Amino acid sequence: MNNPFIELGIRHDIVNAISELGFEKPTPIQEASIPVLLSGSNDFVGLAQTGTGKTAAFGLPLLELIDFEENHPQALVLCPTRELCLQIASDLTKFAKNIPNAKVVAVYGGASIMDQLRSIKRGVQIVVATPGRMLDIIGRKAIDFSDIRYVVLDEADEMLNMGFQDDIDEILSTTPEEKKTWLFSATMPSEVRRIAKKYMTDPHELTMGKQNTGNANIEHEYYIVRARDKYAAFKRIVDFNPDIFGIVFCRTKIETQEIAEALIKDGYNADSLHGDLSQQQRDKVMKRYRERSLQLLIATDVAARGIDVNDVTHVINYSLPDEIENYTHRSGRTARAGKTGVSIAIINSKEVGKIRQIERVIGKQFIKAEVPTGFDVCEKQLFSIIHKVHNVTVNDSQIEQYIPRIMDEFADLSKEDLIKRFASIEFNRFLEYYKNAPDLNATEDRRDGAGDRFARTGTRGDFTRLFINLGSVDGFSRGDLLGYICNTTKISGRTVGKIDVKGVYSFFEVQNSDSDQVFNSFQNAEFKGRPVRIEISGETRNETRGGASNSYNRREGGNRRDGDRSGRREGGSGNRDRNSGGGGFRDFSGKRREDRTERRKNY
Ligand code: AMP
Repeated sequence: MNNPFIELGIRHDIVNAISELGFEKPTPIQEASIPVLLSGSNDFVGLAQTGTGKTAAFGLPLLELIDFEENHPQALVLCPTRELCLQIASDLTKFAKNIPNAKVVAVYGGASIMDQLRSIKRGVQIVVATPGRMLDIIGRKAIDFSDIRYVVLDEADEMLNMGFQDDIDEILSTTPEEKKTWLFSATMPSEVRRIAKKYMTDPHELTMGKQNTGNANIEHEYYIVRARDKYAAFKRIVDFNPDIFGIVFCRTKIETQEIAEALIKDGYNADSLHGDLSQQQRDKVMKRYRERSLQLLIATDVAARGIDVNDVTHVINYSLPDEIENYTHRSGRTARAGKTGVSIAIINSKEVGKIRQIERVIGKQFIKAEVPTGFDVCEKQLFSIIHKVHNVTVNDSQIEQYIPRIMDEFADLSKEDLIKRFASIEFNRFLEYYKNAPDLNATEDRRDGAGDRFARTGTRGDFTRLFINLGSVDGFSRGDLLGYICNTTKISGRTVGKIDVKGVYSFFEVQNSDSDQVFNSFQNAEFKGRPVRIEISGETRNETRGGASNSYNRREGGNRRDGDRSGRREGGSGNRDRNSGGGGFRDFSGKRREDRTERRKNY
């Protein structure tokens, strides 16, 4: 049977090159667009999400249509960021590996312009560029676009979002009228419609999936937490996913730095990616992320655009984007090339409306998820360790020499004891860290102020919420615990409020007027020979100090308080105010944004 790419009209030497990259059959967008683009006679608008194989969808037809015996620019690909520019140029170079004399040049800011000018001078057929640097080179009269036959506008929505409209106009004015323009965009706001109308004649339109919808392989979840608990909730979600390989989106570069710094202090493998880094620093961060030396990449929208890293398991919206469209771009960093992924939003109770707006845009419902309890995290981590032990590759030849001594060391332990000890090495650490972990979920309708007061003081109305170091593992159900509390304290069961039984601990509410009696009664209490401990739950929070990370570099005490950090931002930072101009894309309030330059600076 013929290779399906051959059947679409792609020649053998290109098919051989993409086969080496593992492309066995075309993705849906490739299947639909390659035959249209190969004709070379249409303008084209492709509406597709990132990660669907867009680059090959336009790249393979370009390679077919270009005359590589000629040594002048015939195709120009414009894209919003340096990362995407490099990615596209690298992909095209790989696809063209077997085509003699094929030359692709990447032109982008933040790198030596002299090197790029030299490459152009040597002769090039395909130029992949970000608009700013392209204009610079055109201004120096260092490139001749008079024979350009194809212009590709990739991630057009994002280029407009970043304020490149004028630059694009200027660049395109140097290209011939009769060229064909191919536009790709993940979303189709009216601004993109307008440029399609302006630059194209009767374009062939292709929509993969429902317009504006996100990738079907992505599950969307949201967690409602109080502003002050945001960082702790975020860490708990991370700890609950021991194999997470994620991108965490923040709204500003300051926020990315703060979160990354806090995570590093708490022992996680994390770093930030934002517009203030030098090119060298950005490359270094990306290299570490791609190599998986980093588990969490904390990024702004603009810095993360075009990042094509496979196997990203989670996208976490630490802050929701200002523009709804950006949510699609963010979540598109996961579930690439047919894989699955999760996109998480950590929000406060007032942001539920934004979730509903995003649902309308992506055409998919979010699942309301609960921040895992400390017990849930411990259990998850325990079994992750167990699975790792089970699946570890044993290097027999290396370990052999130590086996007799190891056997000797463990001679006095039964198999069961030995298993318990291995499992406990890490489990104890998580248990200790999460032993008094409070419930971090906030309800949709709880007013923030009321929630905060409760968390701070442990009192709500007439009740005090107490922690007790007994739970389901001690055989307690809610009823049992109520009976035990009443027997021990002699208070009436009718005066006990909500009881929340967890694994190794529980919470219960007593009337404020009973709390002294409860504390006194439990002072010397024991359960099966173990001292029973009671604490006011609000005073026992410890998640903001240190972290139970996967890299086991935990520091105790003294770290920044997440409450201060996230609380300040939630309250509306200067950055946010600067961002809320007019013009441009929709934001959540339906307002328009104008001051793009200011916004770009801010990222
Ligand atoms: P893109 O949307 O072009 O950024 O592509 C997303 C990812 O899918 C990249 O890692 C590509 O290498 C990969 N990819 C694109 N087309 C195919 C294909 N036909 N088969 C397998 N992987 C592909």
